[in-house]
Amino acid sequence: MLLTSDASSPQLLTRGNAARKGCQVDPALLNPLHPSHDHWMAAAIALAEIAAAEGDIPVGAIVVDRHGQAIAQANNRKQRDGDPTGHAEILALRAAGQSRQNWHLNDCTLYVTLEPCPMCAGGLIHARLGLLVFGTADRKTGAIQSVLNLPASAASNHRLPIISGVLADRCQAQLQDWFAQRRATIHH
Ligand SMILES: [Zn+2]
Repeated sequence: MLLTSDASSPQLLTRGNAARKGCQVDPALLNPLHPSHDHWMAAAIALAEIAAAEGDIPVGAIVVDRHGQAIAQANNRKQRDGDPTGHAEILALRAAGQSRQNWHLNDCTLYVTLEPCPMCAGGLIHARLGLLVFGTADRKTGAIQSVLNLPASAASNHRLPIISGVLADRCQAQLQDWFAQRRATIHH
């Protein structure tokens, strides 16, 4: 596996015995350079654009099952819905569980443009998610690698395979553009 020291290149953050722990995603997906990662992250970026257009921080999330089918997708709706839990990951996990009538998502991959916060990291653990793939790191509230590593902490009963840095530059630019635009609006 080709890994570089460039933080914006996709990396597998967790290794080891994902399969023995009940993870049922295709082991080929644990390769950070698997082509489907770029495909689904691009789709998540498009979802994030919907959030941006509606006044929410641009974050998008998609849940893909073991057959490579998207079973749920969501964008951040916190502002629009006045919902403190309205993050893209929570909404996508909820929709995925409802679509299957089963909260157990250990054969699924969740793609999200931004590193999950503590609330969303908790949701991923509760779902026994098979694989998390995220775009850019969140230095302020990231609970996967930046501030905390909640899935690897003593509070977690689920070892979550994680790939970071997929289309990270695009995900980061989308967020930066949104914040720059908002600052410009406030100042005028
Ligand atoms: Zn969150």
